Amino acid sequence: TYVVTDACIRCKYMDCVEVCPVDCFYEGDNMLVINPSECIDCGVCEPECPAEAILPDTESGLEKWMELNTTFSASWPNI
Ligand code: SF4
Repeated sequence: TYVVTDACIRCKYMDCVEVCPVDCFYEGDNMLVINPSECIDCGVCEPECPAEAILPDTESGLEKWMELNTTFSASWPNI
């Protein structure tokens, strides 16, 4: 799965949302998150992000962001 990280905060470009084939982005007040159980790991959103905020969960040190994406995608509106 892919994970949205802190570079997304207050970006709101939304290009990632438009390309996602399974609509697994969720929107909070300050950032977007990806629902890891819906993400099919296609990778098309990663190059669309101008802030380079979207990273594959295979990168190290993303545990905190993975947890945040999981938690908030369950409570924020799907976009
Ligand atoms: Fe959507 Fe693909 Fe990005 Fe996952 S990797 S959030 S399925 S565009």
